[in-house]
Amino acid sequence: PNIRSFEVKPLIDKILHLEEKCINEKNIQVELREADEHTEWLADEKLITQVLVNLVKNAVEAITDTELKRIRISINRLADGKVQVEVSNTGNPIPKEVLPHIFIPFFTTKDSGTGIGLSISRYIMRLHGGKLTHTTSAEGWTVFTVMS
Ligand code: ADP
Ligand code: MG
Repeated sequence: PNIRSFEVKPLIDKILHLEEKCINEKNIQVELREADEHTEWLADEKLITQVLVNLVKNAVEAITDTELKRIRISINRLADGKVQVEVSNTGNPIPKEVLPHIFIPFFTTKDSGTGIGLSISRYIMRLHGGKLTHTTSAEGWTVFTVMS
């Protein structure tokens, strides 16, 4: 990996711009929250970009006919100095029988999915000494959290 410090918010703005067409077509409302301004991440920017693109694409794809069409991205700095980014979306929570498989390479529930996004993303986060985890929020949002 090519570890250098970069600003997180401009990177996320760039990713949202890349996905703008799908986001607008689906009428999805996106909210970006940054706990402090100018959060910097010491990591491989290209690899982190790949991870965040995968998570944002999955969030967009997960939002179908639900009434509330929202994606929230939160940038936080943890007490230990690590950076955490959460990508959350409304829509149906991942069924509990599907959950054990989502990080397995080539597992997909989509007609034309490849099933590699989450497995590669988790691998990239582990390469950084970090993590990629899934939770369902109290409101039933699907939340993927990366940290390193
Ligand atoms: P793909 O997107 O090609 O299916 P991924 O590895 O990115 O492969 O995701 C694997 C599976 O995890 C998806 O097919 C889907 O079932 C589930 N998944 C991932 N992200 C979400 C999400 N935000 N909401 C609901 N299901 C998701
Ligand atoms: Mg995917």
